[in-house]
Parts: sequence; structure tokens; C-alpha cells
Amino acid sequence: MTQTARRDVDPSTGEAAPPAFESLDPRTGEVVGRHPIHDEADVAAVVREARQAQTAWAELGFAARKQHLDAWRRMLARRLDEIAGLVCAETGKPLDDAKLELVLVIDHLHWAAANAEKVLKRRKVPAGFLMANQAATVEYLPLGVVGVIGPWNYPVFTPMGSLAYALAAGNAVVFKPSELTPGVGAWLARSFAEAVPDHPVLHVVTGYGETGAALCTSGVDKVAFTGSTATGKRVMASCAQSLTPVLVECGGKDALIVDVDADLPAAAEAAVWGAMSNAGQTCIGVERVYVVDAVADRFLELVTERARKLRPGGEPNAHLGPITMASQVDVIRGHIDDALRGGGRAVVGGEHSVRPPFVEPVVLTDVAADSEAITEETFGPTIVVQRVRDADEGVAQANSSRYGLGGTVFSRSRGLELARRLRSGMVSVNSVISFAAVPALPFGGVGDSGFGRIHGADGLREFTRSQAVTRTRFAMPLNPMSFGRSKGTVRRLVRLVRLMRGR
Ligand code: NDP
Repeated sequence: MTQTARRDVDPSTGEAAPPAFESLDPRTGEVVGRHPIHDEADVAAVVREARQAQTAWAELGFAARKQHLDAWRRMLARRLDEIAGLVCAETGKPLDDAKLELVLVIDHLHWAAANAEKVLKRRKVPAGFLMANQAATVEYLPLGVVGVIGPWNYPVFTPMGSLAYALAAGNAVVFKPSELTPGVGAWLARSFAEAVPDHPVLHVVTGYGETGAALCTSGVDKVAFTGSTATGKRVMASCAQSLTPVLVECGGKDALIVDVDADLPAAAEAAVWGAMSNAGQTCIGVERVYVVDAVADRFLELVTERARKLRPGGEPNAHLGPITMASQVDVIRGHIDDALRGGGRAVVGGEHSVRPPFVEPVVLTDVAADSEAITEETFGPTIVVQRVRDADEGVAQANSSRYGLGGTVFSRSRGLELARRLRSGMVSVNSVISFAAVPALPFGGVGDSGFGRIHGADGLREFTRSQAVTRTRFAMPLNPMSFGRSKGTVRRLVRLVRLMRGR
């Protein structure tokens, strides 16, 4: 759905109101909400506000911050239906999928608040034999203000992977939601303000890409970006000017490997859910399947049976919703066409399955390895099932992508072994996407899928700077770091290091 930017007149003053845009329901085109288009000056002002509030938030300490974040979590749980309704309206996804997204969010928020102290607090480390007179400690201190730029496909779960962890670590956050889901972003900030009224440390700025670009150059202390690889590169280039650190969570082309001894019905179920849920608009969705030839026919039958039953629609209990971003429909159509033109076969659906704003499930097979359906992120309810000689060839094919976000292995005997050989940030063995629901596990990719990690201990540390401190406990008999050292000091140290470390 295209969106409109309008400048209204404020009836009370007769002056032009700030420019605004509308978010639309992709199922119907109805207006869901109206939001300001924040420009560079607006963003700078919001970042200043956030910075002022951050000091007190950091000084609260872990226990008090946990209490506030717990209050927010309880509010999200109480008002889950309300926010799920808004997620549905702005993305078009089925209501239960929106609720599932929120269930995960609530658990992540709980984990981040409960574990921030354990992961980040000051701890002793061994000082080593050369510095035996020192007490050495490391702690992880908040960065200040973190700018979070999020996509529309999981408009709560994805940004909360940064928001929850950055806030728990003691930062303030300025969040720029996708232009397709600004209402969800604004709701999150409003609910935080209600639950934690004394600490205005979560702010939202809305608008188009320019608003996100303004956030990158606003002087925030880090930018956590989730979105497409192309935009991720632009974000990085703009942050490079001020050496602002970035976390970049981009797209994927995740593969599922089906080994010869896999539980085939479970693998087929996982493939179809992983590829088609949320109408395939999942960064860690299954886009490619490599199935061992000996079981490929049976696997394809099982996938076909399941995929044929799925119906997209606008009703809250449809299996799949619409394609949220209208322009993605052409990408999906292009990938199906390219696969079929290059000799691939559609065993479920085909070109006719694309009926904007909906796309019916499409299962492709025997697709040329250089087809866009294999090499590019499709982001639709399509899946390519390819036969391989054995699981090792499956791993090689899976790794031939320039993306490396998640992955899935179905194998009774070689699950972990195959998982470890996948060039990806995350893998589920004998289930699909499970890693995203484990708050203690880091989430992120390699290659064109980006770098940096949200979730887990790594996700907490991502929004901090480590500070190393040494404290002298007593004077050393040999002090080489002084102009007053004797001639023999370094000679004796060299002898010592050869004795202790030279063997
Ligand atoms: P986009 O890259 O189009 O947009 C992402 C965000 O960046 C939006 O808020 C967008 O604003 C903003 N933006 C656009 N231009 C700029 C700019 N120049 N500077 C700063 N910010 C900018 O991605 P989508 O919203 O289409 O999301 C889909 C993509 O996200 C897919 O590739 C998917 O794989 C990926 N994704 C990755 C995840 C991960 O964790 N690795 C998780 C979820 C999705 P606006 O919308 O207003 O243009």
C-alpha cells in the first residue's frame, strides 16, 4: 500500500501543522493512523531529551531498572490483545501470529531485565603473573543513547531485540519504526511512558527513510539497524562519518537440510511453517530446502500436501496475511518467473499464485542454482526444494549463499555435526526458528546478513562499552614502567618470561 504525506492546517492557530503521513491496513487500504514526519531538527531534539533522561536511568542501577522494565512487561502482557490488534492492522498478519510475536517479546524483556546485572556488572579477572600486584576488573557500562531503526515484518519482536536489551543495560533509546508500522512503534513508546513515567528513556520518531537517516547522523552513541542489506549499507556509510558504531541485522536466504534419516513429516511441517508463516516475510524464514535424493520424493509429497491446504486472506484467522509492502509483490513474482524460466517446476502454485495484496503458497523444485529464487531473498510464501546427493552436499549448497543468518537441519544422527558446519549465526536442529525464542541465545548473522548480536548476553554487551580497570594493591619489586628502573630490571623480566612462558 502506498502511503500519503500531507501538510494540514492547525485549526487553532491557522498555521501549517507539521507534515504527517498515514499508515494503512495492507488488507484493505484503510487508514490505521496518522503520524508526524520528523525531520533532522525534530530528531536532534528528541535525542537531546533522551540524553538528559539517560543519566538518571543509568544511575538507578540494575535492580531498580529491572523493577521498571518488569512493570512495563506486565503492562504488555495485560494489554497484549490491544497491541496485537494494532500489529494486525498495520501488517495484515493473522491475529494469532501477532499474539505469538508478543509472547516472545514478553519473554525476551523478562530475560534482559533479569540477567543484565549478572552479565554486565563489574567482575574480577586474573591480573596475570606480570601484573600480580594489580586487582583487575571489567564492567560493561551503558553507551548513552541508542538509535534503533526497525523493519515492518515483526514490528514489535525485531526492534525489541534491541530496545529491551539496550534499556536493561542502562541506555536511553530513540526508535524509528518502519514507515509501514509507525503506530506500533508509537504504541510501544506510549506504553513505556505509562509504565515508567519518571524515566523518559524510550522515544519514537516517525517518518520515512530520511527520518532514519537523520537518526544515524544525530550523534547517538550507537545505531542498531534491522532491515534490508541495501539499507544496512547506507546506514553504515552514514554512521562511518562520525564513527558511530552500528549493529546491522539484515536479510537472509536461510536453508533447511533434510538428511536421509530425518523425521520427514516433522521436516515437511517445519519447512512449510518456516517458509510460509507470516506470508514468508521472515528474515529467518526458510527459503531453500536441500533434501537428500533418497527421501526427496516423499518429502516433496508431504510438503505439497501441507502447502496446498494454506489459504491467504484478510480475516484474522487466515493462514497467511497479505504482502505488507506492496512493492515486494513484484520481487516475489520475479523470483517465481525466473525459477520457471530457467527450467524449474512449480509443484504447488505458480505465477498465478500472485494476487496482490496476497500471494498463495508456491513450492518450486529443480531450480537452476543461479536463479534469483535461490540467490536473492524472496520474502514471500515460496520455497525452493532442491535434491542433493547427501547432507554434505546440502551443507555446501546452503553455504554458497552470500547471506548467513539462520539455518535448519533435520537429521536423527548428524544434527549437531551438520549444524556446526553451516555458515550462519543460528541453527535449529529438528525444529525450525526455535533459536529466536530462546532469550539466552545471541541472534544475528554473517556476510550480507550483517553483524553484531541482539538477544542473550552478547545482546546486552552489544549496547555497552567495556571498561577495564586495574588497581595497584602493592608496589612491585621490579617496576619496568619507570624512568627510575635499574639496568637489570628488564633483563630480569626477560629471564622470567622465558622461564614462565618460553617453554
Ligand atoms: P528496509 O531496509 O527497507 O527498512 C528498514 C528500516 O530502515 C525502516 O525503518 C526504514 O524506514 C529505514 N530506512 C530506510 N532508508 C534509510 C536510511 N537511508 N537511513 C536510515 N534508515 C533508513 O527494510 P524493511 O523495512 O523492508 O524490512 C525488511 C528487511 O528486513 C528484510 O530484508 C528482512 O530480511 C530484514 N529483517 C532482518 C531481520 C534480522 O534480524 N536480521 C529481522 C527482520 C527483518 P522506512 O520504512 O520509513 O523507509
